[in-house]
Amino acid sequence: MAKRGKIIIFSAPSGAGKSTIISALRERGIPFVFSVSATSRPPRGEEKEGEHYYFLTPEEFEAKISAGEFLEYEEVYKGRYYGTLRSEVDRKVAAGLNVVLDIDVVGALNVKKIYGDEAKTIFIMPPSIEALEQRLSARATDEADKIAERVAKAEWEIGHADRFDAVVVNDDLSTACNEAEKIFTRFIAS
Ligand code: 5GP
Repeated sequence: MAKRGKIIIFSAPSGAGKSTIISALRERGIPFVFSVSATSRPPRGEEKEGEHYYFLTPEEFEAKISAGEFLEYEEVYKGRYYGTLRSEVDRKVAAGLNVVLDIDVVGALNVKKIYGDEAKTIFIMPPSIEALEQRLSARATDEADKIAERVAKAEWEIGHADRFDAVVVNDDLSTACNEAEKIFTRFIAS
């Protein structure tokens, strides 16, 4: 039987640099594919079915919830769902692929409970709340009250960091990428 792939789950407060670190791992040639999430929101712009998301109607999504097909899901607001399909992760892992999940703290801890040692959870930590606030302000894509909301959420998320298998502090980006690479490559070799 072919070797099963591993599951690597990244979570971080918004603005902590998680996407940048995951992109750097890809550029360094670390072998992984993404878990494609399902959503009940309509596609935006160039988004493609099965590449960015699996696009479902709210009714289809709810039917899959009832059938127990999600490892985790969230109803962000009424009728607008996002979730990770068990079939998506299992199919890729069975094919020997390492699967990266980029999901929120609650989802990450739930998926870890299901897969145990087959999964590694990595929390990307901003160097401080002040630094996070500065990064979110510098991005200038959000209004002030939205930034305050994200900072409050970040404080809650950081409070759960000790429940992750590993924490990478993103103070200096290249140090953080090296650290994430080390954790990732050790885990997939184990
Ligand atoms: P967007 O609509 O901009 O693509 O995504 C909105 C939010 O949904 C993001 O914060 C993203 O993290 C979250 N999201 C995307 N996929 C999933 C998923 O599989 N599970 C959960 N819980 N949230 C997700």
